[in-house]
Amino acid sequence: MVHKCDVAIVGGGIGGLTLAISLLQQSMSVQIFEQDTELREIGAGVAIGGNATRLLQRLGIDLAPVANMPPAFEVRSWKDGGLLWSQPIGEWYRIEIGAPFLTLHRATLQRLLAGAVPSECIQLNHRLAGLSDEPAGVRLRFENGDDVVASMVVGADGIQSTARRYVCGDVTPAHSGEIGFRGVIPVDKAYDLPNPTSLHCWCGPGTHVVYYGLDQGKLVNLLAVYKPHRLPAWTGSSNRVPATADQALSIFEQYSWDRRILDLVRNIDGDTSFWALVDLPRLPRWSRGRVMLLGDAAHAPLPHQGQGAGLAIEDAYALGALLGQSGLTDCSAVFEAFEDLRRRRTSLVQAYSRAAGRAYKFIGDAAATRDASWPSLPQRIGWIHRYREEEMVPLPSWRGAHTPAGRAVLGCGDGRAVRQARRPGPRVMLVHGLPHATESSGRKLARLSRPGMSDPPPRVVYLEVGCASGYRFEA
Ligand code: FAD
Repeated sequence: MVHKCDVAIVGGGIGGLTLAISLLQQSMSVQIFEQDTELREIGAGVAIGGNATRLLQRLGIDLAPVANMPPAFEVRSWKDGGLLWSQPIGEWYRIEIGAPFLTLHRATLQRLLAGAVPSECIQLNHRLAGLSDEPAGVRLRFENGDDVVASMVVGADGIQSTARRYVCGDVTPAHSGEIGFRGVIPVDKAYDLPNPTSLHCWCGPGTHVVYYGLDQGKLVNLLAVYKPHRLPAWTGSSNRVPATADQALSIFEQYSWDRRILDLVRNIDGDTSFWALVDLPRLPRWSRGRVMLLGDAAHAPLPHQGQGAGLAIEDAYALGALLGQSGLTDCSAVFEAFEDLRRRRTSLVQAYSRAAGRAYKFIGDAAATRDASWPSLPQRIGWIHRYREEEMVPLPSWRGAHTPAGRAVLGCGDGRAVRQARRPGPRVMLVHGLPHATESSGRKLARLSRPGMSDPPPRVVYLEVGCASGYRFEA
């Protein structure tokens, strides 16, 4: 039987559900097709930064009542838990970033998101087998024999995406060489753990452990990572194998890990697995015709900045807003704008995630240098968390807008002029008002305040610029 729908979302994970919520709120017709027979999240906990909790709040999803707000980030030594550095999160972060940093069980997040999508919009037991472009729309073929024709398809089907094969052929995720062991521990079995509700990273040679509290502090989430000399054979055919706590213990005991961390591994509740940590290489494109990729399907990062779900939420919010503005008639313009907005940020987060995974496991002098640099961490990664909704969704006027007359000079904080521009065309939008700059597709999108103007009127000029911070603006 062939069904029809406007927007077909493949995958009912974090990105797919968030996009559905956004589109439904804008009265667009959506169907999610999920391979599983029920919506359930495998894995353990997830940390969601202010960059994403802010967007969920705008969509009416408030995680705060069910989540845990870690009071601090603590970096410790693997051997004895000695504190290397700590930084407040909690209320400090919420005020600084303008939205909270929260940690919760993935199943809790999935339940909240799914609760905001009417059940008739979610088709379970629909595993996508293939896609084809036809005059009436994109045809989705499912393994259960169903066929659906949609005006537009969004592939939110995760790192092993089937939709991606249609968009850009076979792409093999890249192994970082790390294996993760993750699980959830009831907090009463972690009684001598320092501050179990905080976010912790314990650094050791060739290994690191991240743990944090979940769901109002009732649970502790553990991710223990090691880097074997050679990847085990199972990683050639799968990203995950079931594992026992004893298998994980035998590895972390070899590195002389603190007993409290070994106890955490021992006390994990429920299913446990080894995960091969992978990310996605840069794709040649994210869309083909009327099919667009989103979230892990387009740019899965390693978990070391805890941002994969956050990026999927950002993508969903941005694509939802663009589709809401432009409708479904000109997919290619929407997809191009989406890629422009999202490419650079997502690949930077991927790069920062790789770098963090390496740094956590440094030894010797490199570890000493890393430990001396912890205090500058908030400054170095603040841009990931500060990302705001208005930086990812262009004003309605940005496409095809006329370049205002005039001349603009941009300079760095040190006064060095970096570029002069005279009516250069609609390349980059500069909006007065905010004193920071970010990037879009390799071009800078800067928000400026003009010296001497306390409340400048909103004004848009288009410039091509080349420096990231400390702008002076004259027009
Ligand atoms: P997914 O959440 O993977 O959803 C994809 C959905 O598509 C699934 O429901 C799947 O069943 C479905 N699907 C797949 N194939 C098909 C098909 N052919 N047909 C139909 N449906 C299909 N991120 C964070 O932000 N914070 C963290 O703390 C964090 N910790 C992590 C720890 C580890 C060890 C790992 C591995 C990842 C972690 N992540 C974290 C990353 C995060 O889990 C992902 O980036 C995020 O889930 C991506 O969302 P998504 O919607 O793109 O894909």
